[in-house]
Amino acid sequence: MPQRDTSAQNTLGLLREIRGLMAGEEKVQARLDKFVDVIAAKMDVDVASIYLQRRGGRLELCATRGLDPAAVHTTLLNSGEGLVGQVAYTARSLNLADAAGHPMFAYKPETGEDKFRSFLGVPMLRGGRTLGVLVIQTTDARIFNEDEVEALQTVAMILAEIAIEDERAADKAGKLRGIRLSLDSPESYSGKAFSAGLVYGKAHLHVPPMLAGALIAEDPDAEEARIEDGITRLRADVDMLVSGDAANLSRASKEIFESYRMFAYDRKWVDRLREAVHSGLTAEAATERVRNEHRARLQKARDPYLRARLHDLEDLANRMLRILSGEKSSGAKIAMPENAVLLARDLGPAELLDYDSTKLRGIVLEEGSPSSHTAIICRALGLPLVGRVSGILDNVENGDVVLLDGETAEVNIRPLETVEDGFKLRMGARGELQKAFEALKGKPAVTKDGRSLSLQLNAGLLVDLPQIDRAGADGIGLFRTEFQFMVSEFMPRLEAQTDLYREAIVAAGDRPVTFRTLDLGGDKILPYSDPVPEENPALGWRSIRIALDRPGLMRYQLRALIAAGAGKYLRVMFPMVATVDEFIAAKALFNREVQRASRSGVELPHKIEVGVMMETPALAWSVNAICDHADFVSVGANDLMQFFFAADRDNARVSDRYDVLHPAALSIMRFIAQGCERHNIPVSVCGEIAGRPLEAMCLIALGYNNLSMSSTGIGPVKAAAMHLDAGKLREFIDPLISIHSRLNTVRDHVKEWCEQEGVPI
Ligand code: PEP
Ligand code: MG
Repeated sequence: MPQRDTSAQNTLGLLREIRGLMAGEEKVQARLDKFVDVIAAKMDVDVASIYLQRRGGRLELCATRGLDPAAVHTTLLNSGEGLVGQVAYTARSLNLADAAGHPMFAYKPETGEDKFRSFLGVPMLRGGRTLGVLVIQTTDARIFNEDEVEALQTVAMILAEIAIEDERAADKAGKLRGIRLSLDSPESYSGKAFSAGLVYGKAHLHVPPMLAGALIAEDPDAEEARIEDGITRLRADVDMLVSGDAANLSRASKEIFESYRMFAYDRKWVDRLREAVHSGLTAEAATERVRNEHRARLQKARDPYLRARLHDLEDLANRMLRILSGEKSSGAKIAMPENAVLLARDLGPAELLDYDSTKLRGIVLEEGSPSSHTAIICRALGLPLVGRVSGILDNVENGDVVLLDGETAEVNIRPLETVEDGFKLRMGARGELQKAFEALKGKPAVTKDGRSLSLQLNAGLLVDLPQIDRAGADGIGLFRTEFQFMVSEFMPRLEAQTDLYREAIVAAGDRPVTFRTLDLGGDKILPYSDPVPEENPALGWRSIRIALDRPGLMRYQLRALIAAGAGKYLRVMFPMVATVDEFIAAKALFNREVQRASRSGVELPHKIEVGVMMETPALAWSVNAICDHADFVSVGANDLMQFFFAADRDNARVSDRYDVLHPAALSIMRFIAQGCERHNIPVSVCGEIAGRPLEAMCLIALGYNNLSMSSTGIGPVKAAAMHLDAGKLREFIDPLISIHSRLNTVRDHVKEWCEQEGVPI
């Protein structure tokens, strides 16, 4: 451990005095005046000044020791103007022996600063923002040494936190007029709606900010030992991630972990941590400070690569904080408002389930994807989720009002009253609509022209099961068995699999449950297995292909399914089948397991049906042949459309590029439905489109009577279908999607038709 030298001792003394001042009850101005006095005295300089940001971004001299006191609240600088403006703009310190000689120097005569030559300005950083600038000056021309720069940066960080806390407690401490350090302007963001619903709530950050009181070390030596221990443990952690230790490899790719490792071993990063702690901060505050510095700099970067590195650094800092303080750093453990909107960069399913669901109203993520587990759980719990909202975390504070719109994918922070009022009206209207859907729950879904529909639920976890009754579903049309594997830390054992399948069957009562065998690979990676690196994972060794090459896991699963279905009706289907042969091979495996169970005297299901998921264009084209072997067909439109349009469903740049209501897409859907009908094989759709009313009306018109969707889709689809003359819509759509069609989509046409026909979509 480095010896604490005189300058470090001085810094500690300075921090202690500041801590003493923090405890005081003075007004904000009196406190600032005392801070500059203490800084000037302890650092032995002629000038110490605090500039804070005003509304609109200008910097105002708010306290000084050494400059002309008359300049306080008079001297103003634009961001980027003069040396102080430069420090704020670049979020970097400026250390000059001769300030006036610098090209950015802007002389402010009212300050009387012409007699001072040296200048050290450091940004007061908090989160990714610069709240102000702390400056020291001397009459002699000198460069401040590294320790002095370090000390001033530490003080600046603490002042930033104090300033924010003071401002929040403004009633007690009095405000500085015109200064607005907390974020207060309304901000509007848009992202991608991953789970529907409207929420008015209060922001709750998944990674909470630090409190000023926790910044200064009580025992600096102990903090130095903690940071060293933290660094060692962090490195061991990251090494383990990179080497792919089975128990710890999360679903994030190795490439990301490699860059974590790069930072964890980066000498500069580690040195900054050590310096920050050496200057008297707690280990947590040091981590936070180094994070702030990187954030403020990288945020200016437009380059997506650099911005991605920023995320890596954030993750690393979060990991470090977790190591330092156990799970204390998780926002889940901190008191949450009653109507909380959780904001995070990304969120794993276990982290989400850690929160008190009675208080959680909605979620906003800077990242996320619609098929992520978190998104799926949100839909199951009816929690609105907007993802891919970039940059929001830098502009939101705990407690800010948030309007979260899971339909338009908009997020408003600190909204204007008029926006808030409009939003509340929409919430009210939506509530009415929900009531109307609720009233439909017990009623059968029959179209105006007498077609009887079955609207089922997509599920996969225990948390989904109560939705069967809540949404009034006619069964579970798609049970994604891989979810249990994805959210577990270890491979679920036979009994655990059997239990879950049995619970699903019991929850459904006399309604059918269709289990899909493990659909792994692509984006669905297990936390405990090494992903095989592939150029095109979506087109790679996945799903049924793995199952047929390494049948052990599937056999095990089929055994669990057969056991869970004892004495009941069991439906099983295979995903990602591309050729009829693959289906025949998979079905043979299943039959072998049934025979095995029968031989060992196990009670069998009273009825078994084995179906296929239609998810590849090749299989769609083989609809006649597959109907000779499958008991039923379920169209996995998410995958079918991604392969049909050659557009990765998880890549935001291309996933919305093609409309599933394109005539070509509807033609293939019609082709499949007609093929199945000819062979008298039941057919359903279980991709996301089945749960969107407009798309669902088209599917019904094309001949699909069975749709499976997330719980939130059932009410709206049923309400629309009950007003639909399916035959009439078919007559309308057929000519639009003929082989002569030149349309890119029939969306607007069908929408207009529905409006005219009174179909509420
Ligand atoms: C699909 O591909 O449409 C489907 C339902 O399966 P998943 O979304 O799980 O791939
Ligand atoms: Mg699929």
